[in-house]
Amino acid sequence: MFTVTDVPTGKGKLQYREEHLTGLRCRISPERLKRHIDQSLSLPGESTGCPFCRENIFSITPTFADGNRIIRGESVTFPNMFPFAEWHTVTVITRYHVVPAFTRQQIADALMAQTESLLRFDGYPSINWNYLPSAGASIVHPHLQGISDRRPTWMTERYLSAGKEYHAKTGNRYWDVVREQERSSDRYLFGEEILWSAHAVPAGEREVRGILPVARLDELESYIDSLTGGIVEVLSLYRKLGTHAFNMTIFFSREKTEEFSAFCSLISRINPNPLSTSDSAFMERLHNEPIILTLPEDLGRYYRNEGR
Ligand SMILES: [Zn+2]
Repeated sequence: MFTVTDVPTGKGKLQYREEHLTGLRCRISPERLKRHIDQSLSLPGESTGCPFCRENIFSITPTFADGNRIIRGESVTFPNMFPFAEWHTVTVITRYHVVPAFTRQQIADALMAQTESLLRFDGYPSINWNYLPSAGASIVHPHLQGISDRRPTWMTERYLSAGKEYHAKTGNRYWDVVREQERSSDRYLFGEEILWSAHAVPAGEREVRGILPVARLDELESYIDSLTGGIVEVLSLYRKLGTHAFNMTIFFSREKTEEFSAFCSLISRINPNPLSTSDSAFMERLHNEPIILTLPEDLGRYYRNEGR
């Protein structure tokens, strides 16, 4: 399913990895972990003027065409004021500006509200989360973003079309084959109905993917509880490893298709820090070939042995 090419370097080794299905590539350099460039957490605590805090949210944020926002538990959902998709919604997850950790209830409510908002547009939806400024969040107050367009994003399109080609060529469902392989690999973390593993060719540091048994957003509802449990578990693993910031995307198809499985991908990001030291540079942004420090197999072993 993927190729590993080892290249010895002066101090250790470098791996080039490529995912056969999509052609996505990365480089893994475990030696670079020893530089210890991770930053201690510097959280912007000031909430004055935050549009998502309770004293502002109902006056500053827009409503849907029916004049309402979607309220579910603590969460509040409304259209994005500055959309970059044909349909772009925001779900503020928590009542409070910062929380020590997310509860299952908070995430489940927010995912249900996102689902409801995204099903109002007939496109290829995804549910996304930039958490903390070092992960690209312009507002610290935790929020999800749902986007949907008639054309899928590049990544969704790549997996949809490559999954079809794979099926035509081999007669197998790509996602069934991946599940089988991941379950018995060192990359396996937990879960069966939704299978969570460290992704073999990571798009970012410590990428973990949860593969869902459905393809479309309108099929998600009965899996939200299990999905939420998985997300909370991965976030707790990241915190154990010292990183608080992350990105998350849950990719869905628009059509009913046997050749795609919805999946949730999370990557950990450098902690917010006073110098704005970044973990994205030319390899990630311009070459689209990320430099990864943690071997996916090491992450799987760490979780199963001591990360639970
Ligand atoms: Zn706030």
